[in-house]
Amino acid sequence: MKNADIQKRKESAIARGQANMAPVYVDRALNAEIWDVEGKRYIDFGAGIAVVNTGHNHPKVKAATIAQIERFTHTCVMVSPYESAVALAEKLNAAAPGNTPKKSIFVTTGAEAVENCVKIARAHTGRPGIIAFNGGYHGRTNMTMGLTGKVNPYKIGFGPFPSDIFHVPYPNDYLGITEEQALADLQLRFTCDIEPSRVAAIIIEPVQGEGGFYKASTSFLQTLRKLCDDHGILLILDEIQSGFARTGTMFCHEQAGIEADLMTTAKGIAGGVPLAAVVGKANIMDAPIPGGLGGTYGGSPVGCAAGLAVFEVIEEEKLCERATQIGTRFVEHLTALQAEFPNIIGDVRNSGAMIAVEFVHDGDVNKPYPELAKKLSGKASENGLVLLSCGIRGNVIRFLPALTIEMELIDEGMEIFKTCFKALV
Ligand code: PMP
Repeated sequence: MKNADIQKRKESAIARGQANMAPVYVDRALNAEIWDVEGKRYIDFGAGIAVVNTGHNHPKVKAATIAQIERFTHTCVMVSPYESAVALAEKLNAAAPGNTPKKSIFVTTGAEAVENCVKIARAHTGRPGIIAFNGGYHGRTNMTMGLTGKVNPYKIGFGPFPSDIFHVPYPNDYLGITEEQALADLQLRFTCDIEPSRVAAIIIEPVQGEGGFYKASTSFLQTLRKLCDDHGILLILDEIQSGFARTGTMFCHEQAGIEADLMTTAKGIAGGVPLAAVVGKANIMDAPIPGGLGGTYGGSPVGCAAGLAVFEVIEEEKLCERATQIGTRFVEHLTALQAEFPNIIGDVRNSGAMIAVEFVHDGDVNKPYPELAKKLSGKASENGLVLLSCGIRGNVIRFLPALTIEMELIDEGMEIFKTCFKALV
């Protein structure tokens, strides 16, 4: 089988809206390496967009998944439930930051988790409004697309969007958006668009993922927490990309010392088996009436078995600490390259193993260089490296390796990165 032949079939069989980055078709994968159908090896710096934090085919996650498949694959947790879902909810409730008793629900995708947060927040508060952030990403379903703060490609041609959603700036040191500006804009929304007593929730990513790996400061998250408390607004932390040890703690917002009212998790939760969850304060989670939440596949037994194994692996292999070490290693490579190319590498930043490099022209933050990010991910693929781009301006390369990646593999991948970068600039 040839990649090019499959890509040709793909183009006539799968709609172009579901685009693929490189025409490279996977045959197998192990930890942080992938082999394509032509036998070529790739170092994987994407982990399926921060999903296989425990690496491809981790032996423990694989064994738990296979053992579950041998017993049963689906009964529907709302029809004939199973203990593993309860056990995983207990783990999530205990792992969520803060001391307030928690409850969880399971769904299948990140977008569904966000959708359910909105439902729960509205049921609890009896209010309609949701405030989200410019550059935020929360999914592609109708409500989550409305919450997402980036037009291209997520919103083009898909309106009208749900009402009572308002966007405010996300503070960003690098782009020169201060916390004061963001908070002033939020106050302006309360003056011009919606009174705080009609706002059900504010939703924020502790580190914007698709938006470019910008991190909200501790002071900003604490100010939001207080503002929400003052107005009876719920604070939703979207931890779908930043969760499960990725940023050096189990969930990123615990670093700010705040407790969310509701938190979304997905991606890293089950090592690649589709699973997502909402975890929140028990009294808020119980607002919707029985039967108001759920779905056929939510909390699938295979997902729950994988999820329980993922929890064990994160603890046994100290993946929170590894995320921090991995981040440091990448940043060493990238800052050395930045010193050589200060006019092109505008910024290097990381939150644990969410690592990013931002490309500009002439060292000017206001002259983004998205063409380089695009060309670089293509060239990296040709040279055996999976690289993802992101950013509200499309000029960021993000590194999201498995948290089980070997340090030597990081070095090997970064050599490929540097060679490709130097060939393009
Ligand atoms: N929220 C965040 C922060 C995400 O990063 C993503 C996925 N990139 C989503 C929501 C949506 O998740 P899914 O693609 O599983 O629907």
